Amino acid sequence: MDDSVLHKYTLDVGLEIHAQLATCSKLFSAASVAFGSSPNTQVDEITLALPGVLPKINQKAIELAVKMGLACNCKIEPFSFFARKHYFYPDLPKGYQVTQHTQPICTGGKIDIIRKDGTTFTVQLNRMHIEEDAGKSIHDVEANFSCIDLNRAGTALIEIVTEPCIHSAEDAGLYYNEIRKIVKWLGVSDANMEEGSLRCDANISIRLANSTTLGNKVEVKNINSINFLKKAIEFEMFRLIELTEKNQPIIQETRGYDAQTNTTYSLREKEAANDYRYFPDPDLPPVYITADLLLSIQQSMPELPQALKKRLIQEFNCTEYDANWLVEEKEQAAYFLEAASLHPNFKAIINWMMGPLKQKCNELNCSFDTITIQPKKLIEIIQLVDSNMINFSAASGKLLNALFENPSANVHQLATQLELIQVSDEHVLEDWVNQVLQQMPDKVAAYKKGKKGLIGLFVGEIKKLSKGKADPIKVTKLLEEKLN
Ligand code: MN
Repeated sequence: MDDSVLHKYTLDVGLEIHAQLATCSKLFSAASVAFGSSPNTQVDEITLALPGVLPKINQKAIELAVKMGLACNCKIEPFSFFARKHYFYPDLPKGYQVTQHTQPICTGGKIDIIRKDGTTFTVQLNRMHIEEDAGKSIHDVEANFSCIDLNRAGTALIEIVTEPCIHSAEDAGLYYNEIRKIVKWLGVSDANMEEGSLRCDANISIRLANSTTLGNKVEVKNINSINFLKKAIEFEMFRLIELTEKNQPIIQETRGYDAQTNTTYSLREKEAANDYRYFPDPDLPPVYITADLLLSIQQSMPELPQALKKRLIQEFNCTEYDANWLVEEKEQAAYFLEAASLHPNFKAIINWMMGPLKQKCNELNCSFDTITIQPKKLIEIIQLVDSNMINFSAASGKLLNALFENPSANVHQLATQLELIQVSDEHVLEDWVNQVLQQMPDKVAAYKKGKKGLIGLFVGEIKKLSKGKADPIKVTKLLEEKLN
């Protein structure tokens, strides 16, 4: 599409992100929520909506929602209540979904996000409410009928709703990632997108750039990857602009995203909101957040990624890039902070974490909270390298491998056993230096005539002769003394 056409329009995107709350049981019953169980084994009378059952609110779900609200600068509402949202769906046994409609638990809020180029934007939140998930209809197992799995029915969710304040697919992706990061960080949700713990609906519209009225929106449902979200928004933006340019109407509708073709397709024309006939659920008492409860949740809040990032830059001299990497995962940041409390070579710690340790984590399928090399062992390695007792390639290769075999070993002893400790004894080094220089009289002569670059060759030869154990800094110094 021509740039001049694109520039005529402004894109407006609002996101509704559903995050499955990290509770052990469902929002209104004691049924387990473990993922991956056999179909219809995580159900009880309440999940099945048998007559006469009474739901009970899961306290943990309330606390997790408040945590998320605090992290996103929302107003925590002291009073909220649940409503029934009526619609028929085969995987919704009650015939209605329990959600918060008129009075959600959190209102307002904002999240500031830094783009890769250093510029910032703010996402205004409209609200955050608690609701239950539906079950799953499975259409591709049996040829002639559909199956229903109610394991997920009644699982606790929070829905985080933004204003239509996002104006590019890229920004939408950054915001989705920020939410993923925060819910994981707080332990509010495992945010596992493949298992559907984090899903996003995007409300997308376009308007002429000089207009202040929002255009008709389309809603793309259930996007479970940051990349898919960006692609769905881009596809819709082009589609809507094309329709407008051809003077065709934009129909308010719900669409799905097809990851195979990176396109969206129409699911249904959007019902008006009042079709749901919301009313307060008479079986559930209202939710009161007392001052005491709010205070105890506030006190349990960890330092948030953005605050920690600032501190990493100020207190630990981290670069923007390094700090961003560290706060990407809470475990990573915690590992760094522990190591940094033991030894001030912060840059070496980060380099080791980003390089050899991360590589090992990938190989062994572990993360920085389950890695067997403790921060204090990493520091022992760094100290050996810093004092030239061992070179980096031996440390990150043989020594690290051996330490993974035996994580509690004394690092210095291990390096000695593996004969990795560099020799810095002047007499031994001098011997090696003399040997090499005697073997290469023509190169020595060339060096003396000004080919100073040959020093690298001499150091390399001495390294070979010593099987890598000659301290290269001392060797270089000795060579210079002898040759000049
Ligand atoms: Mn919802």
